[in-house]
Amino acid sequence: MKEKPNKTVERQSLAQVLEVSRRFVTLYTEAGDVIIGTSASKNVELVAGDSVAFEMRDEEPFVTERMPASRCLCRTFHGAQKRMGANIDRLCVITACGATWNPIAIDRMLAAGSVEGIPTTLIVNKLDLGLGPISEMVETYSRVGIPVLQCSAKFGEGVEQVHALLTEPDVSVMALCGVSGVGKSTILNALIPGTKAKTGEVSEKTGQGKQTTSQPRGFLAQQGEERAKIVIDLPGVQFFGLSHLSEDSVASAFSEIREYAQGCKFRDCSHVKEATCAVREGVASGEIAAWRYQSYLQVLDEVREANKW
Ligand code: GDP
Ligand code: ZN
Repeated sequence: MKEKPNKTVERQSLAQVLEVSRRFVTLYTEAGDVIIGTSASKNVELVAGDSVAFEMRDEEPFVTERMPASRCLCRTFHGAQKRMGANIDRLCVITACGATWNPIAIDRMLAAGSVEGIPTTLIVNKLDLGLGPISEMVETYSRVGIPVLQCSAKFGEGVEQVHALLTEPDVSVMALCGVSGVGKSTILNALIPGTKAKTGEVSEKTGQGKQTTSQPRGFLAQQGEERAKIVIDLPGVQFFGLSHLSEDSVASAFSEIREYAQGCKFRDCSHVKEATCAVREGVASGEIAAWRYQSYLQVLDEVREANKW
């Protein structure tokens, strides 16, 4: 007997997620099309950068499955680990000279990238304002192995270095994060001209920008005939919670602490008050920047507090 062809279910196709907005997903298909208004199975949790399988059901696109994801940027949100972006090949932590410079926020974003093994670059924007007192901190980041790029996006200076990161052959998804007001939208607009990412004014009082992006959103950067690369604009959260991390991973997320920890007497040293601690000796001698150590302690505290319950 001849089998009846199933009209409603067609062959599955692959795509990358650009955006998730309430119930609908925007896809960038393997064939190079952008499909908006795609539905997804309720139990498939998706973020920008995810690879998915989808099919047409009654002529409507429907996501059936998420492929295993790696290099996800996560933060703790309402007590739970929340993925913000997936399969990130390069994370740009955007910072700026002036009032928006916030080392604890920067260290938290760097740590989130580091625990997932995401190659991360620190972008120091608004160089026109002068590095001033932050120049020492910027040097510290370089010294601990974090690549640093400096630019003045508003004046189109230095953004070509950020663009060069995007054109690297092994980068197909790049994510931009940073507290609001640092110039993330300005950089995104420079990377992908015509992007309608809103640029906001910085409040003179707080030095913080107004929140202009609420959901991670992937934009396509066309590279000639090649498949477009995805630039994910991550929301500029003021508090990047990390309480979902394990205690061990906190130390390993700070490269210099991870390195000095090898000299600690106790293998499970937490570098808080143990008697013979190479990390604390490093801080005392100035080899480890005290403010980086403070960031480490703050995140460790947060993790311990969360694990009490
Ligand atoms: P976002 O909140 O991080 O997306 O930041 P925006 O791109 O909206 O920029 C916030 C403010 O910083 C705007 O007023 C921009 O004009 C300004 N801005 C962006 N880049 C630069 C820069 O290189 N130098 C200076 N001085 N201001 C900049
Ligand atoms: Zn120690």
